[in-house]
Amino acid sequence: MLEELARANAPQHIGVIGLGMAGPTIIAHGTEAQKSRYLPSILSAGEIWCQGFSEPGSGSDLASVRTRAELRGDTFVLNGQKVWSSYAQIADWCILLVQSDPGAARYQGLTFLLVDMHSPGIEVRPLRQITGDADFNEIFFTDTEVPKAQVLGGIGQGWAVAMTTLLHERATFGFSLTGALEAALGQLLRLAQDQPAQAARLTDAIGREWIQMQALKLTAHRALAQLAASGRPGPEGSIIKLAWSESNQRVTKLARELLPDPILDDGHWYYLQLRSRANSIEAGTSEILRNIIAERVLGLPRSR
Ligand SMILES: Cc1cc2nc3c(=O)[nH]c(=O)nc-3n(C[C@H](O)[C@H](O)[C@H](O)COP(=O)(O)OP(=O)(O)OC[C@H]3O[C@@H](n4cnc5c(N)ncnc54)[C@H](O)[C@@H]3O)c2cc1C
Repeated sequence: MLEELARANAPQHIGVIGLGMAGPTIIAHGTEAQKSRYLPSILSAGEIWCQGFSEPGSGSDLASVRTRAELRGDTFVLNGQKVWSSYAQIADWCILLVQSDPGAARYQGLTFLLVDMHSPGIEVRPLRQITGDADFNEIFFTDTEVPKAQVLGGIGQGWAVAMTTLLHERATFGFSLTGALEAALGQLLRLAQDQPAQAARLTDAIGREWIQMQALKLTAHRALAQLAASGRPGPEGSIIKLAWSESNQRVTKLARELLPDPILDDGHWYYLQLRSRANSIEAGTSEILRNIIAERVLGLPRSR
């Protein structure tokens, strides 16, 4: 569905984190009560979700999160800070990765919580991006109480649950944004027809992007078939997300080269080019995705 919306040039779905990340993770790790409570409102977009994984000191190295969840009786008490949390300013719920046992070995002291964003002790502060938009945020937790029943997948099982989320995040990005790239390339081709003098020296580069997009679509369909067969996205999601992000940056740059006079651009391509700078950071940086592809797809040993 997200791929079709993107191909039709529709704005990004407001429930993208619920549909692409929270929902599939709840399906994989949730109790029956959690599934019946959360899934219907994710599908209807009646409740909006955000993702609270990254922290000022923990992005690529997600296992080092420090937001503390201390269990007191049947309640976790949260203290700490998340950052870059998209849609947190409008979210009703957050998928939150926390440190519940600081003494535990790496990967074993983490817990995954479903947190009501309207709880007392949560403060959301928007961050302004290079585009001027403020789509992502800092989230501060001060003695925020979360019932133990809000754990997804078991106390101390947070790393495995978070990996399910990340696999789905990259696959969702891959499918939907391949559709968006196809729409952008269609616009780029029309622009090239309107600007033949500029387009003449960029024909090869535009052709390369079109071929790359076809390969990306086929890889996305292969990944979808794998998902339909196993219920679990494979590492192809990382290939698609990596190739998409770098292709999208080149496509928006090409459009700007076709429109050397800013007066000819109504701001559309300028905005898209600025927004594309974040593509190789969000949902896993290009360096991290190259590591994953080397290890999981090519089977190379981990580099030191
Ligand atoms: C638009 C946008 C939206 C986002 N939305 C969310 C959200 O909703 N929720 C959320 O939790 N987070 C979100 N993020 C955060 C995003 O997941 C992180 O920015 C990303 O994981 C990178 O982490 P970092 O910024 O801490 O950079 P770092 O991890 O500090 O990386 C800094 C640099 O070092 C490189 N590097 C780090 N480790 C390695 C390694 N092992 N090998 C090679 N190179 C390495 C990186 O590639 C990068 O170039 C968003 C980010 C952006 C840009």
